[in-house]
Amino acid sequence: MKRNFTDITGKTFDLIVVGGGIIGAGVARDASLRGLRTLLLEKEDFACGTTSRSTRLIHGGFRYLQHFEFGLVRQDMREREILLKIAPHLVHPLPFLIPLVKPTDLIVMAMGTLLYDILSFDKSLPGCKYYSRNETLRMEPTLELEGLRGSYRYYDCQVPFAERLCVETAISAAENDATVLNHAKVTGILKDGNTVQGVKVQDILSEREYQVASRMVVNAAGHWMDSVCGMMYGQPKSMVRRTKGIHLLTTKVANNALVLFAKSDGRLWFVIPWEGYSLIGTTDTDYKKDLEAVTCSALYGRRAAFRCLPCV
Ligand SMILES: Cc1cc2nc3c(=O)[nH]c(=O)nc-3n(C[C@H](O)[C@H](O)[C@H](O)COP(=O)(O)OP(=O)(O)OC[C@H]3O[C@@H](n4cnc5c(N)ncnc54)[C@H](O)[C@@H]3O)c2cc1C
Repeated sequence: MKRNFTDITGKTFDLIVVGGGIIGAGVARDASLRGLRTLLLEKEDFACGTTSRSTRLIHGGFRYLQHFEFGLVRQDMREREILLKIAPHLVHPLPFLIPLVKPTDLIVMAMGTLLYDILSFDKSLPGCKYYSRNETLRMEPTLELEGLRGSYRYYDCQVPFAERLCVETAISAAENDATVLNHAKVTGILKDGNTVQGVKVQDILSEREYQVASRMVVNAAGHWMDSVCGMMYGQPKSMVRRTKGIHLLTTKVANNALVLFAKSDGRLWFVIPWEGYSLIGTTDTDYKKDLEAVTCSALYGRRAAFRCLPCV
């Protein structure tokens, strides 16, 4: 995969994708596999945005059951199976334990896990299983939850290096004849009236500007989506509700992945094994400030984790 700007001059692409996160890389791969002349542009490096800052899970959709989004569960399940097949070196099965505390937890989780197993009848991963209080504590000796009654285990998948999945997706797009450029910032949209004709792009390393023609432009700029829309409409357009999530990385505090609920607001959060450490998260709070200067406080996550795992 060569970073060659001469590849984009004097050509008309079928599709330009703005943003080299997992969405942009996935769109570019899909388009190139369909034979479209595709250009993927990333202003920094691939996966440098939200993609490399996620909890690194490939969800099978278990959490969507609480909102009865059965279609979404099936869709997630299918995507998860595809990733297990095409990227087994990056995506691994991961067992999760949901500790049961309230008397109603047992019934709710029994129904939830049964439904999950029915909806995922064709999955390749093991089904859900109940464990007694003693079995749960044998598996997770550091877990201290008042009133613990037992737990349910379900399987999901983890992608320990989400950035690799993104980079390999971009490479796969390039192997299928997409032109793929990083440090290439889209600075404007070329228009004829209201019709998009292409983009203006700056090579950040040489500071040279290029104009590239395309029949279609996909805005996959994640949190920066509004600024790309602003280039189209000539003024900032607010389409995205931004939130901020925080993870804590600690020494290993649990053997399995755990699904826990914060006492303060009942929010669901995870303790995930990651490369010999535990990744704890995540918060989800609205964020309206500067996208390039995000800061965080670890207090909420630490408090929530400490309630169940005093060793955090
Ligand atoms: C805390 C947290 C935890 C999460 N955990 C999970 C999880 O466990 N599993 C899961 O599936 N999802 C998870 N998600 C959601 C997931 O991370 C996002 O849905 C996904 O990463 C979005 O990818 P993206 O490509 O849209 O955005 P991004 O990865 O942000 O990519 C957008 C890219 O566009 C580029 N860009 C912006 N403007 C321009 C421009 N003008 N020119 C060129 N390039 C530009 C940026 O540099 C950036 O690289 C989580 C999200 C958060 C916030």
